[in-house]
Amino acid sequence: MNVLESMIAGLKSTCAGLPDRRKGRRREGEYTMADIGLAAFSVFFMGSPSFLGHQRALQEGHGQSNCQTLFGMTAIPTDAYIRQMLDGASPASFDKLFFEAIETPDMLAPLQRLDGRLLIALDGTEHFCSRKIHCQRCSTRKRSDGGTEYFHAFLGASIVAPGHQQVLPLPPEFIAPQDGAEKQDCERNAAKRWLARHGPAVAHLRPVYLGDDLFACQPIAAAIQQVGGNFILTCKPSSHQTIAEYLRGAELEEHRQTVVTRGKRTTTIYRWLSAVPLRATDDALTVNWFSIEIQNAKGKRAYYNSFVTDLPVTPGTVAELAACGRARWKIENETFNVLKTNGYNLEHNFGHGKETLSSVLVTLNLLAFALHTAARLAVLAWREAVVARGAAYRFFEHLRTVTAYVVFYSWDHLLRSIAAAAVRPP
Ligand SMILES: [Zn+2]
Repeated sequence: MNVLESMIAGLKSTCAGLPDRRKGRRREGEYTMADIGLAAFSVFFMGSPSFLGHQRALQEGHGQSNCQTLFGMTAIPTDAYIRQMLDGASPASFDKLFFEAIETPDMLAPLQRLDGRLLIALDGTEHFCSRKIHCQRCSTRKRSDGGTEYFHAFLGASIVAPGHQQVLPLPPEFIAPQDGAEKQDCERNAAKRWLARHGPAVAHLRPVYLGDDLFACQPIAAAIQQVGGNFILTCKPSSHQTIAEYLRGAELEEHRQTVVTRGKRTTTIYRWLSAVPLRATDDALTVNWFSIEIQNAKGKRAYYNSFVTDLPVTPGTVAELAACGRARWKIENETFNVLKTNGYNLEHNFGHGKETLSSVLVTLNLLAFALHTAARLAVLAWREAVVARGAAYRFFEHLRTVTAYVVFYSWDHLLRSIAAAAVRPP
């Protein structure tokens, strides 16, 4: 069994353990919770809202479908039934699968930076917004016209690396009304919960947490250190008064690098100041502030950003620290945008639900993305199939198309067929 098959088997047993709201004993021919969870997941994993429809047609014509052979399902429930049965399940049930996906030996090696560390970018994003449709878990806000808007958001965490295409999502933490809390939930509180829940489990990976300016504050920095992590957080002096005051009177250390590519010269200037208090209190954490400025051949500023870190900044480390700090954008660009645009039709098939459905579907969607990346990093046949198609999106086009008409014996059979020029029916 390869990594992909064992990950799908792990998901199957997790789905089988989801609470079953049907009363009494299961009748013969009723869908299992495993079928229901896997059916929703398969739509996201195949990136195709019509995947289940095609498989129902194959099942009728051939007596079996890819739901059976690739996902290990016994029958294909309807979209309405999936919605009804998954609404109420806890999205956290799937958390451990994200960590199992990165347990494969050597898979994470190409993503290591800063002397064997892993970068985990934290960032919030909204995945649902409506004036009409809402559920028990919706957050709300008043708009200027007096109307109420309902929305869902989550704090995402992804393993990223500068110079590496793949990003690996970890479990999301939902930004949602919390039991017993008076104020609305926020991104910072979600980040603290994420760190408390998952920080200890990833401490052995020597994580360096990345975050935007909002996270460059004492409570988050302290929470990161408490679970054995380090940080590189965007820090604009304009929103950090104490740091701005220290910078004003200080002589900054400086390191310059000039490179010429295709006749064009660019100069990168790193400046830093070590041991600055993060805020103006006696218990303030001491951090190292640094900036990166890129100048074009004419000496004009093309890029500027600044960060705080608890890792030592030296002429030897500052360039890599800056590259790692800048990799934070990958969570927005490569995690969230992929989720929103690349054929992952959030809520397209299954709707919003009344209880937890919306969060369960986002979690399954992120899990599908995590398993795609894990397969890309760890399953040779997957990598060969992607390479043979020339681009990842072409690979997914083929995945969608061929599975609509042909039943494959196994993932290996499917991937080899995509890699080969022609797809021969079994
Ligand atoms: Zn809702």
